Amino acid sequence: PPANGAELARAVARDGVEFLLVMFVNLRGKTCAKLAPAHTLDRLLGEGLGFAGNAAYGLGQSSADPDVVAIPDPTSYVRVPIQENLGILQCDLYVRGEPWPYAPRGILRRQLAQLAEQRLELKAGAEPEYFLVRRTEDGGIRVADELDDTAGPCYDAHAASRSLDHLTTISRAVDAMGWENYSNDHEDANGQFEHNFGYAEALRTADRVVVLRHLVRLAAHRAGLIATFMPKPFGDLTGSGLHLHLSLWQDGRNVFRAPDDPRGLGLSPRAYGFIAGVLDHAPGLMALTCPTVNSYKRLGAGAATLSGSSWAPGYASYGGNNRTHLVRVPDSDRIEVRCVDSAANPYLALAGLAAAGADGMARGADPGGPVEADLEATGTGTRRLRPLPPTLLHAAEALAEDDVLRDGLGKTPDGFYADYYADQKRAEFDTYHRQVSEWELRTYLQV
Ligand code: GLU
Ligand code: MG
Ligand code: MG
Repeated sequence: PPANGAELARAVARDGVEFLLVMFVNLRGKTCAKLAPAHTLDRLLGEGLGFAGNAAYGLGQSSADPDVVAIPDPTSYVRVPIQENLGILQCDLYVRGEPWPYAPRGILRRQLAQLAEQRLELKAGAEPEYFLVRRTEDGGIRVADELDDTAGPCYDAHAASRSLDHLTTISRAVDAMGWENYSNDHEDANGQFEHNFGYAEALRTADRVVVLRHLVRLAAHRAGLIATFMPKPFGDLTGSGLHLHLSLWQDGRNVFRAPDDPRGLGLSPRAYGFIAGVLDHAPGLMALTCPTVNSYKRLGAGAATLSGSSWAPGYASYGGNNRTHLVRVPDSDRIEVRCVDSAANPYLALAGLAAAGADGMARGADPGGPVEADLEATGTGTRRLRPLPPTLLHAAEALAEDDVLRDGLGKTPDGFYADYYADQKRAEFDTYHRQVSEWELRTYLQV
């Protein structure tokens, strides 16, 4: 990627890019952008582009406030492979010339800068899952490609082949952007897919998740379909996760790795500290990693589906190479955080995870040995495990009480960002909670 404005200008010229999508995300991770001609690049890098901050949800602005100014980060540049004269730039946000503390990308930047003070660098790999669906006449949805065999479409070669146009479009795009695509699969549910690509610095990976979602939605739209990153669009099908694989580096060395680990997982005390931090702060973290009302319908053995599995955690626990826990240790060089779902704002989720992990390391915390139990088949066994918050409201309350996460997400002119965020989530839950559902009518109408 271009390291600075001059390199960016050369890359834009080299790629024949005519227009730039000047992009940032709102609190929900939804992409916002303006389109600017590439010949305005100097001005973009100097003055940025102004936005009415209150038009983007959750940026802490009212219509009486001055513009939020988006200034592109040259290192975030990608050429959109399926719209060849278009480039995308992720922006950092400023108000009155100062970094705006409500900007999710800025929040992650600050958290990573704190790690950098200890010469530590967080690297992340992301596994985005989503469904391709169609709208039905009655306003509902159904999966785009319904198979006759709904009992176990995970890795289904026939299903993947039927969606080859879509999968190869995305695969080519991911490779063209230099992210090194290495697999694309049909997931556990009908019409559900995942793309895998190389890991990178946490900020870069968060940017990639944002761009990937954008491209997947665009490709689906062109095919007359809807790509949804909603965590649990169908009650009886597996939900969509955004597993994050994390490792911590110092001076070019992965400090999670320790071949002499007495527990045999190949992890260092710092890695265990990080895991302990993530598990200790899991209730509040969930407000960031599982940020919608719908998120909580994906989690736990109770969310198991036709295939007999939900693949999504119900407890704050870790195991070895065991997919029923919140943290899995797939290999001795990283941890996989499995609670994160496809609706997560990747910047906020990574910022929260970094803060939680850093706290665990600073305290020298130890999570104990890995839990061996298959939590979907045999329950929790003899270990007492902490259940995860059952709703968004519980998670929001936990976030508001978690001082480590409050510090980690930082302060705004109005107080802690975490308090602002928790307020948004309380309101979201409340709006949902006031709806009366079909289920309630069926169950209570004639009680
Ligand atoms: N779809 C599952 C989830 O909601 C994950 C399946 C997998 O392990 O890839 O997290
Ligand atoms: Mg998967
Ligand atoms: Mg995974």
